[in-house]
Amino acid sequence: MADTTLHSGTISGDLLIAGHAERGTGGVLRGVDASSGAALEPGFGGASKAQLDAACAAAWEAFDAYRETGLEQRAAFLEHIAGNILELGDALIDRCVAETGLPRPRIEGERARTAGQLRLFAGVLRDGGFLDLRIDPAQPDRKPLPRVDLRLRNIAIGPVAVFGASNFPLAFSVAGGDTASALAAGCPVIVKAHEAHPGTSELVGGAIAEAVSACGLPGGVFSLIFAEDRAIAQALVADPRIKAVGFTGSRAGGLALMKIAQERHEPIPVYAEMSSINPVILFEGALAERAAAIAPAFAAALSMGAGQFCTNPGLILAIDGPGLDRFLGAAAEAVAALPGAGMLTPGIHAAYDRATASLAAHSQVATLARGKTGGTYACQAALFSTTAVDFLAHRTLQEEVFGAASLVVRCADIGSLHKVIEALEGQLTVSLHLAESDIENARLLMPLLERKVGRILAGGFGTGVEVGHAMVHGGPYPATSDGRSTSVGSLAIHRFLRPVSYQDLPQALLPEALHDGNPLALPRLLDGKAAAG
Ligand code: NAP
Repeated sequence: MADTTLHSGTISGDLLIAGHAERGTGGVLRGVDASSGAALEPGFGGASKAQLDAACAAAWEAFDAYRETGLEQRAAFLEHIAGNILELGDALIDRCVAETGLPRPRIEGERARTAGQLRLFAGVLRDGGFLDLRIDPAQPDRKPLPRVDLRLRNIAIGPVAVFGASNFPLAFSVAGGDTASALAAGCPVIVKAHEAHPGTSELVGGAIAEAVSACGLPGGVFSLIFAEDRAIAQALVADPRIKAVGFTGSRAGGLALMKIAQERHEPIPVYAEMSSINPVILFEGALAERAAAIAPAFAAALSMGAGQFCTNPGLILAIDGPGLDRFLGAAAEAVAALPGAGMLTPGIHAAYDRATASLAAHSQVATLARGKTGGTYACQAALFSTTAVDFLAHRTLQEEVFGAASLVVRCADIGSLHKVIEALEGQLTVSLHLAESDIENARLLMPLLERKVGRILAGGFGTGVEVGHAMVHGGPYPATSDGRSTSVGSLAIHRFLRPVSYQDLPQALLPEALHDGNPLALPRLLDGKAAAG
């Protein structure tokens, strides 16, 4: 049973291991006030190797029981977590604002999104379609050979390690999309808290642990660890009881964890979301029609959350001409007026300053505008430009600058635009700004765009990711480590599932979902055809 203190809204700095709060004995780390850089109380005890081992052992022990919980019980569990998070009220919002420097309305919106994601997966569970139940009944009289009875369902892959993201302290962190989808799939979860928001992490972790207990689930279904030493986070990925990893962060971090996962005796999948510059294509007709109107919308998207979004518009592609000149004039004006906005951590701020200084000093890059400066760790927005020829000659110009910076690539003609897109790495999104006269040019680009990105959108920018059934928040490397999946939306559950086939098994050995007569009334394919639940 969980400790009674777990869901109290107070922050102790303790680890949450399988329903129990305990002091980490592997060093101490602290949250930091994002606006001042001052250390926040309390200190958080980092997990020792033995404490990590206890969390992994508990997750493994919980796995078989948890994955066979009824769909309704698991759905109610996810809803209970959502309710607990909302119940934390101002204690959660205040701490999250202090640790991240993100504005209160943004954090409140993210809390609603986090609860919404959990409820979305509750709906996915009740629907049951994710199990992908299939029955090919035996055909004993088939000639020349009889057909066996084959039945298939998806099962949970095993305990999952989740690395919370710095830039979404709620929606992509302890109870974020990775955790919600893994728990929905039937996988116990061990979260490695991001050190940018440890207090927020503990509060949300307590909300999950209380729900585990209240719903009568084994404690090992959820653990939260802090890691003062990266070796602990690496040992989590290397632990043989962990069967998949969810990660959002830097390319270097994602690659390091992928390497560990690949070098294990049993390699495991790592679903890492790493870097994307999210090209925006401004077609000639759109620029002729509304260049001056697109510019302020672009500046607003660029500066949202100090640009600390994985879908931030970091690259603008357009064909040289008077329309582009008009856009650049208006965009430079809009960017120059942007106020400095606090960044998530001093480290992320320093990385942003280094990257923008390097672009400003690049011989083939012109600085079109800089936004206003602000507090100590404020992001000063930046707009740069270069030519397609120079962009193609300098691969480093494709690197993600995490923050409100964007690079405009001026293309001589449509052929040069194609070459630039062909040279791009994989992306989460591409945004198209079109007029009626641009449709044919855009149509010719579609096969290339489909190869490069996870989401193609028109008339807007990639920021503001809808959480739904048809969303893809993924894309070819390095946008993600595995472009076959998504980390946002109901499809995310499939990252943590594995199909199992049962051949000629007696009913008594089959899972109930595959019994004759469909006792659980779940959607199934019978001989390849949909059979009503
Ligand atoms: P990060 O440095 O990659 O860290 C993310 C998480 O992974 C942290 O918990 C971190 O632990 C852990 N980690 C990183 N490298 C590790 C390693 N080698 N071994 C074990 N654990 C490791 O990302 P961040 O701190 O969130 O932000 C830094 C940069 O990441 C940003 O400036 C930006 O470039 C990028 N970023 C990109 C996105 C995106 O969606 N594209 C989102 C967020 C950040 P520690 O705290 O111990 O380092």
